[in-house]
Amino acid sequence: MDKLRFFSLGSGSSGNCYYIGNAKRGILIDAGIGARSIKKRLKSAGVSMEQILAVFVTHDHFDHIKAVSALGNKEHIPVYSTQKILDGINNNIKLREKLEISAQRTIENLQSVQIGDFTITSFPLSHDASDNSGYKIDYQGLTFTVATDLGCPNEYLHEYIAQSDILILEANYDEIMLQTGPYPEKLKQRVAGDCGHLGNQQTADILMKSSTDKLKYLFLCHLSQQNNKPELALDAVKGTVPKHTLINVLPRTDISEFFEF
Ligand SMILES: [Zn+2]
Ligand SMILES: [Zn+2]
Repeated sequence: MDKLRFFSLGSGSSGNCYYIGNAKRGILIDAGIGARSIKKRLKSAGVSMEQILAVFVTHDHFDHIKAVSALGNKEHIPVYSTQKILDGINNNIKLREKLEISAQRTIENLQSVQIGDFTITSFPLSHDASDNSGYKIDYQGLTFTVATDLGCPNEYLHEYIAQSDILILEANYDEIMLQTGPYPEKLKQRVAGDCGHLGNQQTADILMKSSTDKLKYLFLCHLSQQNNKPELALDAVKGTVPKHTLINVLPRTDISEFFEF
């Protein structure tokens, strides 16, 4: 059977997009970088647009949806999300070309869909978008969970992390860098709030509570350029996951390494 493959095309406020698939086909989680960059970065990893079966959108902030209309309308790749997020996408004034109805597919939180050999389950996360979904992808006995842009954990996140062999989890800011950094007070409160983003220490606490021996790979995502450093995020989570877990920080603006599980 085909091994599961993963690489990140971008992670953070300048655009988020992840490929999860096998040698033949796969899905994208978010399409927050330009369509041309997506095409180019996929190609550099040996994946063509025709191999993308679907895009699953976490939420309707622009850094997650920039290319959804190009992929949905022009490439005819179905775009899945909750109805609230799909509506939010077309209400986002930054998105000039709207996502046509024919490209929209609804998956409500706690529903699952089967796409090729992949079973994708959506679950709710707390964030200040129209709605926000994490995704759990099951493929040939492996469980891969993606959780980004959340202010605080919930029971679903804990449950799915406990089931995960592979996990992408946000580690947005270092608490001290955020508090002493250049952001205006209101923005600091938003980022640190329950509907904002996860700080390194919060991420560490979640991992400490929920990760199990099953966890083989941990990818830290959506690091803030202003308020975090990869070494601080890595330092915070050290010792919170099993010794055998390989930990990576996903690059902000470049394609990541290519992983096979
Ligand atoms: Zn984001
Ligand atoms: Zn967001």
